[in-house]
Amino acid sequence: MPDTTPVMSPEALCEFYLNLSDAIYVIDPVSSKILDANKAACEDLGMTRGELLNQSVLSLNVDVVGEAQWGEIAGVIRQAGSFLFVGRHKRKDGSDFPVEVRTDHICFEGKEFFVSVARDVTPRSLQHDELKSNDFIRAFALNEASDGLWDWDIANGTLFLSPQWYRMMGYGPHEITDPTLELWKSAIHPDDADRVMGLIDLHLKGKSSRFEAKYRLKNRNDHYIWVHDRGFVVQRDNQNNPARMIGLVLDITQSQVLAERLVKHSQEDDLTGLYNRRTGYELFEQHLKICQHEGAELQVAMLDLDHFKLINDNYGHSNGDKAIKHFAHCVRQMIRKSDMLFRWGGEEFLLLCPDMSQQSMCNFVARILENLTLHPFVTDDGIQLHISASAGVSSYPEHGSTITDLVRIADAAMYEAKVQGRNRLYLGTRAKHQT
Ligand code: GH3
Ligand code: MG
Ligand code: MG
Repeated sequence: MPDTTPVMSPEALCEFYLNLSDAIYVIDPVSSKILDANKAACEDLGMTRGELLNQSVLSLNVDVVGEAQWGEIAGVIRQAGSFLFVGRHKRKDGSDFPVEVRTDHICFEGKEFFVSVARDVTPRSLQHDELKSNDFIRAFALNEASDGLWDWDIANGTLFLSPQWYRMMGYGPHEITDPTLELWKSAIHPDDADRVMGLIDLHLKGKSSRFEAKYRLKNRNDHYIWVHDRGFVVQRDNQNNPARMIGLVLDITQSQVLAERLVKHSQEDDLTGLYNRRTGYELFEQHLKICQHEGAELQVAMLDLDHFKLINDNYGHSNGDKAIKHFAHCVRQMIRKSDMLFRWGGEEFLLLCPDMSQQSMCNFVARILENLTLHPFVTDDGIQLHISASAGVSSYPEHGSTITDLVRIADAAMYEAKVQGRNRLYLGTRAKHQT
């Protein structure tokens, strides 16, 4: 039987850990706060224990930016149980140094903790004037560059990926020992894969001076990140076939998400989430062209809320907004996927319906108006308010072949519906179009 008698008391063991030369941190997985740390950690960071216990991983680790990223990292650590990564820790004076961190997920007395052991891996060579060594500089660049590097030996079918590539994708440095082209290919978003492979193929065939693409890659957590990838063939064989290609890949998720949000913002109306008038013109134009090309009809309806000013005047602007949102919601629920509803103005909406006859459009719009009167919306004060709308319908090609004509005819028909008592629909007439 092996002797299992502990050599140290719990107190002595504690003292032992406190004096270990590697830095130890106890971290709250949820808040990322440092709950405890040993002497080496304080010395590494140039902080007193009190100062250190006020910090979080986000303020200590240069490579962990924002709570969302911490959430992802924490998820990976929980899942893996133990996780090794290379990063940089920031000292109190603002300088930073490279560390190799092993983090374990530990449950103790019903609570979960992360325990990280961080080793300062500042290369000895810095003190030994070995900076001139190419190997060192290359290793340093590979480790520190914000771009991940890939090196594809096409002839042998092997792939080298730099530590930053793994870090970017959420992998520990030793998690994947034998990366293959398949690993990378299978991580590309299915909607991007053909385009990316096509661009690489174009470059391999010598038809482009370099490969460059923005696309999505699935990280270790099954989340897609956006990357900007560019590379080129650096070696060809005797028959001029590409033998080796290298490239740099940068995580551009944040700027891509921001750019997408800006595009969305410029297309959509904030209040209803519907496309705005500007986008409406673009899509209207596109659909008119398609219908002209295919010889198909396109139905147009202009809809305007009745006596809307009264809602604003009697119940306030905020309830007016609510009425507009309610209208958009009611109509959106009824239209088909191929129909398009735009917020054309304040409480004015334009509906486009392809693949529909004029008679069906009139029946459809009549149902929309009826449905609206059946479903009141509730004001901020809990009052149920019934609203109605008036509509005018025009059709391509019967009433015109330009947006201006079709909108003008629908608008005039809608005005006629107002004059005739509101909460009704009028079909545009050729006579009005011709005047
Ligand atoms: P009608 O039946 O003839 O259409 O009468 P109406 O009172 O609805 O008249 P009109 O269509 O001209 O009214 C438009 C009003 O909508 C004027 C404007 O103050 C209000 N409005 C425009 N945009 C908004 C908005 O985003 N929110 C709110 N609450 N009111 C808006
Ligand atoms: Mg109105
Ligand atoms: Mg109006």
